[in-house]
Amino acid sequence: MDTALRIYMCVIAFILGACLGSFLECAADRYVSRQSVFRGRSHCTACGHVLGVLDLIPIFGWIFLRGKCRYCGKRIPASCLVTELIGGAAYLVIVLWCGLSFEALIVAFMAPALMLIALIDLRTMEIPNGLTLYLIALFALSIAAHYGEALHYFLDGLIGAAAVGGGLLIVSLVMDKILGRESLGGGDVKLLFAVGLFLGLWRSLLMLITACIIGIVFGLGYKRFARRDNVAPAAATDNEKPASSDTSSSASSETANDKSVAPLESEAAETTNGEFPFGPAICIATFICMLFGSSVINMYLSLFM
Ligand SMILES: [Zn+2]
Repeated sequence: MDTALRIYMCVIAFILGACLGSFLECAADRYVSRQSVFRGRSHCTACGHVLGVLDLIPIFGWIFLRGKCRYCGKRIPASCLVTELIGGAAYLVIVLWCGLSFEALIVAFMAPALMLIALIDLRTMEIPNGLTLYLIALFALSIAAHYGEALHYFLDGLIGAAAVGGGLLIVSLVMDKILGRESLGGGDVKLLFAVGLFLGLWRSLLMLITACIIGIVFGLGYKRFARRDNVAPAAATDNEKPASSDTSSSASSETANDKSVAPLESEAAETTNGEFPFGPAICIATFICMLFGSSVINMYLSLFM
């Protein structure tokens, strides 16, 4: 590909990803507060002011406003900026690694669902079935595009899904019996099944290992953060959301943000009880393995040949 065209594609991919990240952050908050994702203009939940075009520019909007609402001065969580940067980086990596290919198209359609699952799971410890079904439907569509090897692609996907989804289901049922409580959420198992379809057997296993490593690191940080957040609720000023102990009311009244005060961290801390959402780790691991899984496996196998 021509260098100029390549740079142009990268810039477009980053902007598209950042815009998508901004939208998904808003969509996750609206999902939590049971609002329509597509209806109603973006507004500050603190003062209700409809946001202008400049306020909505991904990444730069947050930087120019220095993380505060232009109209009421309340804090805009850094998670908005982080999600936009991750969205931009994700699409940039897709284009850099896959170029303009069918594989890139599949990952580009998977990425928003994975991001939204991660964002919602972080807020609610739930994974919406609709998003898992979207991934399964996307897999069904992608079979049609695998001319000549559709059956192999389908069977490999099914084996991968059964291995990680089915395997983890059995493990979680056994763990539930031993622990006397739910060890792995049903949403996690369904998500593993859905992403296993795309990854096939070997990449699914690699994804599971990667997800466990990410999950352990994330879980340690999550619990540490939650503990720190829980011991210092009085530190919240009038301009910040108080660390309410009423999870449901905080979820319904405070999370309807577009670019405003949405202390995702506080909500996560409120919902944690020695548990943490595993969905984000699965989503990140799936994205990594969709792009780099085959290369990693080939590299590993070459060590023995
Ligand atoms: Zn405001």
